[in-house]
Amino acid sequence: MAQEIVDLFKKITGHAKEYGFIYPSSEIYDGLSAVYDYGPNGVELKNNIKQYWWAAMVQMQENIVGLDSAIFMHPKIWKASGHVDAFNDPLVDNKDSKKRYRADVLIEDQIDKYIAKADKEVEKAIKRFGENFDEALFRKTNERVLANVEKATNLATRLANAMREGNMAELGAILADEEITDPDNGSKNWTEVRQFNLMFYTQLGNISGEEGKLYLRPETAQGIFVNFLNVQKTTRQKVPFGIAQIGKAFRNEIVARQFIFRMREFEQMEMQFFIRPGEEMTWYDTWKRFRMQWHLALGTPQDKLRFKDHDNLAHYANAAVDIQFEFPFGFRELEGIHSRTDFDLKSHQELSGKKLQYFDPELNESYTPYVVETSIGCDRMFLAMLSNAYCEEVIPDADGKESTRVVLTLHPALAPVKIAILPLLKNKEELTAAAKTIYNKLKKEFSCQYDEKDAIGRRYRRQDAIGTPFCLTVDFDTLENGTVTLRDRDTLKQERLTVAQVEDIVRSKVSLAKLLEGLDL
Ligand code: ATP
Repeated sequence: MAQEIVDLFKKITGHAKEYGFIYPSSEIYDGLSAVYDYGPNGVELKNNIKQYWWAAMVQMQENIVGLDSAIFMHPKIWKASGHVDAFNDPLVDNKDSKKRYRADVLIEDQIDKYIAKADKEVEKAIKRFGENFDEALFRKTNERVLANVEKATNLATRLANAMREGNMAELGAILADEEITDPDNGSKNWTEVRQFNLMFYTQLGNISGEEGKLYLRPETAQGIFVNFLNVQKTTRQKVPFGIAQIGKAFRNEIVARQFIFRMREFEQMEMQFFIRPGEEMTWYDTWKRFRMQWHLALGTPQDKLRFKDHDNLAHYANAAVDIQFEFPFGFRELEGIHSRTDFDLKSHQELSGKKLQYFDPELNESYTPYVVETSIGCDRMFLAMLSNAYCEEVIPDADGKESTRVVLTLHPALAPVKIAILPLLKNKEELTAAAKTIYNKLKKEFSCQYDEKDAIGRRYRRQDAIGTPFCLTVDFDTLENGTVTLRDRDTLKQERLTVAQVEDIVRSKVSLAKLLEGLDL
């Protein structure tokens, strides 16, 4: 990673801690790797993300209903889903550094290096030839560019084949052929590559051995599949219909880094949409479009989001795409949209011996529905929003000079605090009393903060740093005519308004309903 990217990412993680968004878990005991706690502002932001997802995916959808299934489930569920046999990552250790890596990630990094080399040639040529440079032609004809692109393509194919076949020896051979070294110390002294199952497990108290082995769910989806008939019958939904759930998932990730991007305990927001067999590609496209709309409605720039088809389809899928977001460390998966066929329902049907079929009254026949799934990590969405919002800006000060502020330009509907109520002076009883009266009124509708400590400029900065879209200041005019000043986080404009006008402005800006207006399935 380039130094400025490392620095930016450090700043974001530091900011998240300093302002009560995210703390490392068990910090006083030196932390627990890849586990994090959400602080007072973090929990608000996270809840707002979940609320927006639930409103768009359940509340707004006539044919989608919610579920909250238990984390513990019968161990056979994970056999049927394929997780016991196939939820593995290829693990490799370096004998010198004693560090553990995912072999596929090391190889993907090598592919990126070839691409970067090709891009560097192009950059050099742009500098050399200036305005008249034809980049497309150069990419098609320059030998060094072509050689590096070919190396990247061949390697990607070799990796995809090895992963599809679960061929660990081939992954080891790639590490050797490409002379891939440990990023930590440059050593090529690797162990064999072997499969590592990512599920955590625990033991039921009253049953010993394999029988009592309970897994912590690695995805929330299976709770939906095994409840498919319960939900369908109790809600009398007709195919097509969906079941949505938000909940914790657990994965024993080998390489858990990049802050909350890859955690061992995290939260998923998943929706399984049950459809007629044969209609999956239409629904797949529909959900791709809708989910992208959901992201864009938050004001995330279009060029920070993109679709990326899977090179490697999971055992259950016949089509799969990621919505990638440009995190500070590059484009990475934020959400997955998968056409899961009838794999899960059929497997549960076989292993449990219970019928999981739907009688379609229009077709007058029974079938196992196909499923299109949308699955997004709540924590990844949090990181995407935090990194997209983090901004250092030079702004004019009250005394005419300039200073730098850190501001989170979060969408107001997601901001942890919607409005801060600030008496101009702390030790003027009549100002603080008026401000408290306004606070006590507004807090019933909005998440508000009352703050009287420090100069007003410093209080504005504190609110900017947590992304509060509005600050309301109570001054001596308030006592005379009931008006207050409302400061806008983004434009820095200050307006003199009545409290009722403030309420209207805040209500319309933080409204979830407004955010949902632009979405249609
Ligand atoms: P990756 O390739 O990054 O490991 P995945 O393809 O295994 O992700 P899915 O199984 O499709 O992920 O899970 C759906 C979503 O859950 C992902 O898009 C991501 O947002 C989130 N997610 C998965 N694993 C983690 C994790 N370890 N920490 C945080 N979020 C995760």
